[in-house]
Amino acid sequence: MTRIGFGYDIHAFAPGRALILGGVEIPAERGLLGHSDADVLLHAICDALLGAAALGDIGSHFPDDDERFRDAPSTIFLKDVSRLIQARGYTVVNLDATVVLESPRIAAHVPRMRETIAGALGLETDRVSVKATTHEGLGALGRGEGCAAYAVASIQSA
Ligand code: MG
Repeated sequence: MTRIGFGYDIHAFAPGRALILGGVEIPAERGLLGHSDADVLLHAICDALLGAAALGDIGSHFPDDDERFRDAPSTIFLKDVSRLIQARGYTVVNLDATVVLESPRIAAHVPRMRETIAGALGLETDRVSVKATTHEGLGALGRGEGCAAYAVASIQSA
């Protein structure tokens, strides 16, 4: 059986924070605000994977008031989610994600994001797609106030 899941997340930009997307630190004047490293892309992917297996959401597994996760690299969430879905007998077929942000431009970092995500999940890189778009100046994202990410995941019974 093949199943699909969907994930969405958004974080606000804040000064004095590193910008981490897809497990990769991206040179930028500011980063995203959050309890963990605020990797909005990995959070959306975790929710897509959990959703595909009907295993709740990232907040139910990794509460944002848990001190263990303060400034934690979100790759630990992704690896944990991978273990959870494997324990239910699923393997990941593929992932597709879109990051929405006005700046900085992240296209040059996408190959390393794909490799990092695939590595954390033990997948071939061609099973992981990451795309980027701007919000065309519209709304809060368009004003550069934050960064959002959408992801879909397909999993199958091992
Ligand atoms: Mg988040």
